[in-house]
Amino acid sequence: MPELPEVEGVVQALKPEVEGRTIKQVQLSEIIRFSYDEGKQCIVKQAEPDAFEMALSQMTITKIERRAKYIFFHLMKEDVSYVLVSHLGMTGAWFIVNTPDEINEEKFKKHIHATFQMADGGYLIYSDIRRFGELRFLTKIEDHAPLTKMAPEPFDETACDYFIAKSMLPKYEKKAVKEVIMDGQVISGCGNIYATEALFAQKIHPARKMNRISEKRKRALFEAIVDVLRQSIDAGGSTISDYRNINGEAGSMQNRLQMYGKKLCPVCGTGTSQMTIGGRTSVYCPNCQH
Ligand SMILES: [Zn+2]
Repeated sequence: MPELPEVEGVVQALKPEVEGRTIKQVQLSEIIRFSYDEGKQCIVKQAEPDAFEMALSQMTITKIERRAKYIFFHLMKEDVSYVLVSHLGMTGAWFIVNTPDEINEEKFKKHIHATFQMADGGYLIYSDIRRFGELRFLTKIEDHAPLTKMAPEPFDETACDYFIAKSMLPKYEKKAVKEVIMDGQVISGCGNIYATEALFAQKIHPARKMNRISEKRKRALFEAIVDVLRQSIDAGGSTISDYRNINGEAGSMQNRLQMYGKKLCPVCGTGTSQMTIGGRTSVYCPNCQH
């Protein structure tokens, strides 16, 4: 699943390619139409497929930014601004190509769900193999409440204090630390991979209750999360399954991971353990992490 560093990689690659360009027209896949009509899980949110296509035609992409694991495409048409919010789900990927045939991996080519034909030629394409991603068309961010409740960006100066304050609320203080740090209302963009890595770096057991961790240790943990996110951004993200950047390239952070997906602890050699916390599989070293 793409996490913050992977989404950052996508945004950095998209920015110079599409900012300032205008969309001529958009075409959604038959599967999107079918799933929308049947009331099933559908990539396109908050607009009917026809209305979505119509609304986006002739829009200019003024700016692209990442917020947590979302991509915001800021748009403008006839002096009115809009935003297209993209979440990559498990396997979403954006491509910029001269023709859709240029996507060289068959599995991505087969699962193209939104084709944006650009006014000056070429295509911006959204492909999603498992279709858990989202494309949400809004007049403003506030129109989708969950987007307004996100914690600050982890790199913001205020983010650590925000985490400390949230972690002491009754709602969170008795929960397992791993569940809390993965909650987007507490810390933005810390998914399973990076939560696992940061807890291992700080030798904290993932099931440890939040109120059993000192403030000093919480601050060190927060720094460890920021560190691992930055390292991963520098490495082009982690390619665990089907993440690709817009050039179809995979990241290399998976080669630097210490605990996520490991059978043996790289520090002490003990076999790792697994438990489910907050519905997610958590890997940890029973010897090093307490
Ligand atoms: Zn160990």
